[in-house]
Amino acid sequence: MKVKQSMVGLVPYQPGKPIEEVKRELGLEEVVKLASNENPYGYSPKVRQVIQESLEDLAIYPDGYARELREKVSRKLGVKETELLFGNGSDEVILILCRSILSKGDNIVTATPTFPQYRHNAVIEGALVKEVPLVNGVHDLDRMLEAIDENTKIVFVCNPNNPTGTYVSEKEFLDFLKQVPEHLLVVSDEAYYEYVSTDDYPETIPLLKDYPNLMILRTFSKAYGLAALRVGYGVANEELIKAIDPGREPFNTNTLAQRAAVEALADQEFVQTCFEKNRTEMARFEKFCEEFGYDYYPSQANFILMDLKKPGGEVFQKLLAKGFITRNGEALGFPSSVRITLGTEEQNQRIINVLSKLE
Ligand code: PMP
Repeated sequence: MKVKQSMVGLVPYQPGKPIEEVKRELGLEEVVKLASNENPYGYSPKVRQVIQESLEDLAIYPDGYARELREKVSRKLGVKETELLFGNGSDEVILILCRSILSKGDNIVTATPTFPQYRHNAVIEGALVKEVPLVNGVHDLDRMLEAIDENTKIVFVCNPNNPTGTYVSEKEFLDFLKQVPEHLLVVSDEAYYEYVSTDDYPETIPLLKDYPNLMILRTFSKAYGLAALRVGYGVANEELIKAIDPGREPFNTNTLAQRAAVEALADQEFVQTCFEKNRTEMARFEKFCEEFGYDYYPSQANFILMDLKKPGGEVFQKLLAKGFITRNGEALGFPSSVRITLGTEEQNQRIINVLSKLE
């Protein structure tokens, strides 16, 4: 049995090592994972209760259309319920987009390095990937525009960008959007939206009424702290949503996830607290880099990519030996860097302590 040609040579997504595996391998009692940009403060305390109550309903299929969550998100964003598509993580929304839109001979335009799932899903559909290098860690939107040709179907803008944490400003994004041909889709992946603190970040939701070719991706995996439950969504023109919705699995978001997301969304105080702590902790890392003369990308997200002027793999291993799972920059396109997800104050102080003694 052979898989289709576009699958040949692809490998599954490589997540950071699981905590239990590292504990076993290295004989460590305590291991902290600062590798996947999760929320170190967990999730709203209100979620626990609804999860417990939902255990009664495990024998019943979820509402595939996620009605209650849909209503709450639509109200929060001020969009129509028909302008939303929920996915098993925003990962699945990316997959649905690619499977619905791309065929062999098409191409997508992305930055590089960026979130790898755009490429991965496009390649599976037999599409080409036109990758435009970041400039100083930032999307080069002019070159991305130039890369668009008659076969381009989707342009992905990861904002803030993973793995750099850098952002495209409102003005840059609008200038770009105006120039993109209307027949192709612009995806603004805003997985880290809740962490953004800068005033000139684009407010994209109001743009939807003028740009039927725009889709915004958000997630409950990051600031809302529900990564394990897998809920993300796309917001776009209802015609587009209607056209791609058949590409979704019937029960793609589960009951626990939907109900947890409803509670998490209602607890904006929790999100605000996480946002504030994240800024404080980001300042801690920035200060460390400045004191030690290390370059870093100013980040609007909950992670920081630091150039420690040594092979990323070496630093990664040293941190691992001390019980910290991070991301080796070599695998992310930044050979002398590591990407660290900001942890709690105590975790950050400890990892900075290790970093300050690096040899
Ligand atoms: N987009 C970006 C930029 C991400 O960093 C991630 C998670 N690492 C995702 C999308 C996917 O998130 P999820 O599937 O958990 O919603």
